[in-house]
Order: sequence, then C-alpha cells, then structure tokens
Amino acid sequence: MTAYETDNIFAKILRGEIPSTRVYEDEDTLAFMDIMPRADGHLLVIPKTPCRNVLDASPAQLEAVIRTVQKLAIAAKAAFDAEGVTIQQFNEAAGGQEVFHLHFHVLPRHEGVALRAPGKMGDMAAIAGHAEKIRAAL
Ligand code: 5GP
Repeated sequence: MTAYETDNIFAKILRGEIPSTRVYEDEDTLAFMDIMPRADGHLLVIPKTPCRNVLDASPAQLEAVIRTVQKLAIAAKAAFDAEGVTIQQFNEAAGGQEVFHLHFHVLPRHEGVALRAPGKMGDMAAIAGHAEKIRAAL
C-alpha cells in the first residue's frame, strides 16, 4: 500500500497551513466543513494522526473517528432538521478517494432531496453559517 503523504490537503488543514471552517475537535479528531458541499451541512471528520484511509488505520484511529462521526451526525441532523444522514467514506483512487488522509463525509439529508453534484465550490458565507448551526446543536 502507498505510504501516507504529509503534503495532502487535510494534513495542511491540521497543521493550520491552509484555512478551514472547523466545527468540532477533541484530542484525536477534527470535524470541518467540506468546501464543495453536496448538501447543506456537509462536513468531514478526520483523525489528527496520519493514515490514508480505513485500509491502514489503526483500531484506535477508527474508534476515535467513528465516535466523532456519530456526534456530528446527530448534531448536523438536528441543526438542519433533517430526516436522515448519509455517511460516506472512500478508500484509494479506485474506491473514489481524492484526498489521502482518512475522512468520513457527514451529509444531512431530507426526504426526496438528491445530493448535489460533486466538485462545485460552495459559497463560503453560507458554509460559515451552516457551521455555526452545527456548533450550536452540539
Ligand atoms: P474524497 O477523497 O472523499 O473523494 O473527497 C474529498 C473531499 O474533500 C471532497 O468532498 C472535497 O470537496 C473536499 N475538499 C477538497 N479540498 C478541500 C479543501 O481544501 N478544504 C475542504 N474543507 N474540503 C476540501
């Protein structure tokens, strides 16, 4: 398996080298807003320690991340008065992964509302407002 690369975009976010809209963090994990949201409230949860994805993560990394995923899924569902939550996670390029630091997508969902197409930059002011709603629901 390819080694973890320290110049990936989420490693830079963790080091504070590029900005992000953070919504929650604890000792082991960070949650921040996706800049190309496929639903209002689309956020990402990552471990603070390096691993590419589920295939090389330690049990401790997986446990910490999934605990934070659950916390943020509950908060995001409440913040957006959503009926459901989609949690997505991709492994290696063939599995749909684009950023090679383990992350889970958390997407509040409403009945009959499709996810938006991937790859379209969101409105940063709207994303900041969505982050505030999720923080308030935590
Ligand atoms: P995946 O690797 O799971 O396919 O997707 C990576 C995700 O990271 C995408 O949803 C994309 O919108 C998001 N993303 C890519 N670059 C950045 C960035 O610089 N900041 C943030 N917050 N999200 C990013």
